[in-house]
Amino acid sequence: MERKILKEDSMGKIFVVGFGPGNKENMTIDALNAIEASDIIIGYTVYIELMKKMYPLKEYQSTPMRSEIERCRLCFEKAKEGKVVSLICSGDAGIYGMASPVLSLADEYDLHDITIIPGVTAAVSGGAVLGSPLTSDFCVVSLSNALTPWEVIVKRLKAAASGGFVTVLYNPRSKTRPGLLNEAIDIFINEGVSKDTPSGYVKNIGRDKQEYKILTLEELKTADIDMFTTVFIGNEETEVINDRLVTRRGYKI
Ligand code: SAH
Repeated sequence: MERKILKEDSMGKIFVVGFGPGNKENMTIDALNAIEASDIIIGYTVYIELMKKMYPLKEYQSTPMRSEIERCRLCFEKAKEGKVVSLICSGDAGIYGMASPVLSLADEYDLHDITIIPGVTAAVSGGAVLGSPLTSDFCVVSLSNALTPWEVIVKRLKAAASGGFVTVLYNPRSKTRPGLLNEAIDIFINEGVSKDTPSGYVKNIGRDKQEYKILTLEELKTADIDMFTTVFIGNEETEVINDRLVTRRGYKI
């Protein structure tokens, strides 16, 4: 965060910032410092609106949902003008985020002053809302088939289910792909996971209208789940204890 040094250099720099679920309390100090040190903050429209509430006086530029690579290129263009740029991502910037494409474009722009700032990913912030579902081995699978073929996703879901992992599903539902979540649940049931397995979801974590529900694997099929929701499927050690979703760790309690 050495702004002085940067000012002596005609090149700017890029922070790729994971800002956590959406509330300031769940941002890291590194993320706050990066945003404060930035001349311009770039991101998806919804995230820019969240950030504007925290830092109303900053310069912002938002780009729509599907224009991720244009968004990354814009960061390099602004950095080439000598600006300190923060590209903001929800949760962690390296988990289904923009850190990877930014690092992949660095040679093209010959700009390597790039710092990745980690953030609290939805599995972690949502897990805390539900209780302690991720106590032991778990895995994360995105149901988005925009960049990953559905056959690959199916293979990974089968492996997660047969491996006995607690599984966190990102991108569980969208208007154009409403059936994927139910297909995923059927894969778990077909792999022998009980339809009564304690599971849960959290919507709008850390944002207005946060809500969560603990329910069974089968009940997830008819739950009100959208693209701002993270889904948790328990395993054989997962129980509901005082309305919390808890995966036991093998301690004798
Ligand atoms: N980089 C992000 C994930 C981006 S993929 C992270 O590390 O959390 C987008 C998916 O993440 C959403 O479809 C949803 O499943 C999950 N997600 C991200 N932020 C969320 C939030 N505040 N509340 C609930 N789910 C969230």
